Amino acid sequence: MRKVSVFGATGSIGQNTIDLIAREPDAYDVVALSGGQNIAQLAKDARRLGADVAVTADESRLEELRAALAGSDVAAAAGAEAIAEAAARPADWVMSAIVGAAGLRPGLVALEQGATLALANKESLVTAGALIMQTAAKSDGQILPVDSEHSAVFQGLVGEDMSAVERIIITASGGAFRDWALEDMAKATPEQASSHPNWNMGQRITIDSASMFNKALEVIETKEFFQCPHEMIEVLVHPESMVHALVGFNDGALMAHVGPPDMRHAIGYALHYPERRKLPVARLDLAKIGALHFRDPDLQRYPALRLAHEVLATGGHAGAVFNAAKEVALDGFIGHRIGFLQMAEVVEEALERLSGSQCLKNAEMTLDTVIETDHLARKTALEVIKEQNR
Ligand code: NAD
Ligand code: MG
Repeated sequence: MRKVSVFGATGSIGQNTIDLIAREPDAYDVVALSGGQNIAQLAKDARRLGADVAVTADESRLEELRAALAGSDVAAAAGAEAIAEAAARPADWVMSAIVGAAGLRPGLVALEQGATLALANKESLVTAGALIMQTAAKSDGQILPVDSEHSAVFQGLVGEDMSAVERIIITASGGAFRDWALEDMAKATPEQASSHPNWNMGQRITIDSASMFNKALEVIETKEFFQCPHEMIEVLVHPESMVHALVGFNDGALMAHVGPPDMRHAIGYALHYPERRKLPVARLDLAKIGALHFRDPDLQRYPALRLAHEVLATGGHAGAVFNAAKEVALDGFIGHRIGFLQMAEVVEEALERLSGSQCLKNAEMTLDTVIETDHLARKTALEVIKEQNR
């Protein structure tokens, strides 16, 4: 039986992962599950999968989790430290599906243990790409991408030589506002930004899809994971979300990955890699679909895409600043403190203010330097928001 753990088990990716694992109860021995505020879901899944431990990120809810697990063999724990400890428990395969920079540490710990890390938490690669990749190289573990675009590129590169790759194209649906006028986007509410036309995902990534901050994170994720020049990475708007990515080779061939917008494909590919196994996802009928559409993204509407390339040109800890400032700006938008288009302004200003800072220049990257940069960027972004609201 394969030992598996799922961090961020109560979220959208976590629940899709559990859906696949629960279909083969005899194949998996579940070690740890982590969640946040949804204690009932966490306890229910931990019980039915027979997990060794269930951890909530919220320390104040430990008693509630204990009560929900009473009479079972599942141990209860709480807090960021407990999540890291759970990640240190030996496992063969670990899903990293916590949202935000909080997902970095458990993923690193799991990699250090030699686990295969199925990485949905793109923020890990954005904030600490060099550190994550070095840790994977030094350990017996490996990273498998779970973002749909990166899984698609990864699959397109099987048996290929990176030196023959000319470009990597990741697609973007355009999110909730793809057909909105810029003036309307400026007035958009968090509720309007929280509904995605094609994918069913957590609220934060759904809003990030509407602003294309999600795609910006993915451009950085692509560079860090595939170790390619950032100039090679292109974004293509594709409203149907069926072609997830394309790899362009030096002989002119474009290899496209086509599939339904269902994250269980990318999760299942990472779960069974290097094998392909039957997965419970819809089969596309291209004749019925008839046409697929593509267009270039309008950088006027999506400044986040320009910022991503600037961040990659700067290198070092710029990704940690970008992600942390984006998380603060997103909180500001969700909390109705800033408007939708202001998010990119806040991030750009935070990057600008920290461009000369020591921590950004620091060449050596450790978990401490990343956390220090993350904190500084959050503080700076909060200051920017305060000043803008004056
Ligand atoms: P979600 O909001 O549905 O779930 C997030 C999970 O993280 C929950 O289990 C929550 O309890 C936990 N969590 C939140 N804050 C935490 C904290 N501070 N400490 C510990 N745990 C915390 O999010 P999601 O949509 O499942 O996305 C998860 C990750 O996967 C994100 O990094 C996202 O960018 C990435 N991703 C998601 C999708 C998707 O289809 N949902 C696709 C590609 C990549
Ligand atoms: Mg994606």
